Amino acid sequence: MVDDGGLQALREAARLSPDNLPLRRHLADTLLARGYLAEAEAEYRAALVLAPRDPGISTGLAESFARQGAYGVALSVLEPFLAQPGYPARMGVVAARAFLGEGDVAQAGYRYHEAILRDPSAADPDLAARLSSGARPAPAAGPPAQPVAAPGSSGQPVTAPRPAGVPAAPYQQSAGTDGGAEVERSRFTFADVAGMEAVKEALRVKLLLPVQQPELFAAFGKRAGGGVLLYGPPGAGKTHLARAAAGELGASFVNVGLADILDMYVGQSERNLRGVFEIARRNRPCVLFFDEVDALAARRSDMRQAHTRQLVNQFLAELDGVDDRANEGVLVLAATNAPWYIDVAFRRPGRFDQLVFVPPPDTAARAAILRILTRDKPLAEMDFDAIARATEDLVGADLKGLVDRAVEAKLRESVAAGRPVPLTTGDLLAAAGTAAPSSVREWLATARNYVMHANESGAWDELMPWIDRKR
Ligand code: ADP
Repeated sequence: MVDDGGLQALREAARLSPDNLPLRRHLADTLLARGYLAEAEAEYRAALVLAPRDPGISTGLAESFARQGAYGVALSVLEPFLAQPGYPARMGVVAARAFLGEGDVAQAGYRYHEAILRDPSAADPDLAARLSSGARPAPAAGPPAQPVAAPGSSGQPVTAPRPAGVPAAPYQQSAGTDGGAEVERSRFTFADVAGMEAVKEALRVKLLLPVQQPELFAAFGKRAGGGVLLYGPPGAGKTHLARAAAGELGASFVNVGLADILDMYVGQSERNLRGVFEIARRNRPCVLFFDEVDALAARRSDMRQAHTRQLVNQFLAELDGVDDRANEGVLVLAATNAPWYIDVAFRRPGRFDQLVFVPPPDTAARAAILRILTRDKPLAEMDFDAIARATEDLVGADLKGLVDRAVEAKLRESVAAGRPVPLTTGDLLAAAGTAAPSSVREWLATARNYVMHANESGAWDELMPWIDRKR
């Protein structure tokens, strides 16, 4: 382990190379291992901005919350992952610790044993002993003074007041300015999104036409407003689609991840949420995009703690706005891999009143995605259909990884040859052979379990043909 001098050098290196993800991760892991929990939390947040949804970084962030006693916030970070099978074993152990902290011994035991079965090296004898005695974890001991948690059945928040000198999450720092928020101008439009014609059409009608042709909409007595909830397997292109919708509309784009909102201090998550809506309102027209929204908008009945319920209520209040015009020109899009966890209150008119399924790409869509992903590269004669046939079950994100790997190999070859060597069908087929198995099938199996017996309202109609097809 690094000594204090080494730690200082790591901090300095990270300060000088803020975009160096492996370095920031290493610093965060080191801080966590040394017990500098608040600093580790801040570093994991920064790393998550560079690599949103990275399971390892999310696990680190959750562990830093859990060890500070903020069990509910830790679980909110992990929830999107826990909803899917096959999450990393260490994540299961951290989840177990947080569930135990919340007094949910049954869930803690289940998560712990399930994780250890998959990877015995993740075992934590101390936690195992506490699990068998049903006790709660002892308060964390570490060098810096940590906030005192007050978990329990009293319905009181598990969070503590923010001590002086502890920085707030990014949006709080930017109160009154847009300094902390990433307000992007999207360079993508729908032309950069392959396939998904039905999805694009739904977004056009819902989001774009009212803004582009308000007279037409008014003539039919329709008002703009209300958000869209995009759901589907991870990597199928939900974020890409949201960004492209902003570009299509010429609107600014604000991409909000969990790490931007969740905070262990009383009321801070709500303030962060209000902050991002305010930033979007100041930058109209704006597409405000919430990724992994299930962690912010989960069913209140599922919420273990009062403070997370307050966050849901705040979210609902922001979506409704103080008056009819509060969110004019702000188009709220949200994405989730686990739509069945979303509180139904979010689906009322004016909120996320439209559910749009972003499906895994079929063969034709995969060929089209590959064309888009390789269009600015030197190419030989390509047979994209053959590659598409060889990549069944891969989603857009997997295809992007595959193209990146093939391009990297080609770059090395080009450097050796001293000239650009074009990418071939064979290169992409070879990269396809080494692609990691995708989670699409697992996702569809999970989705099937949730929606088969709960489609009375027809909410999941779009999903049904996919579930039946993959049986
Ligand atoms: P999700 O938000 O559903 O997890 P992303 O939007 O992050 O997925 O997709 C990952 C990447 O895959 C995108 O950045 C994009 O490069 C690529 N991609 C996914 N779907 C498409 C598509 N339909 N057309 C072009 N590229 C796509």
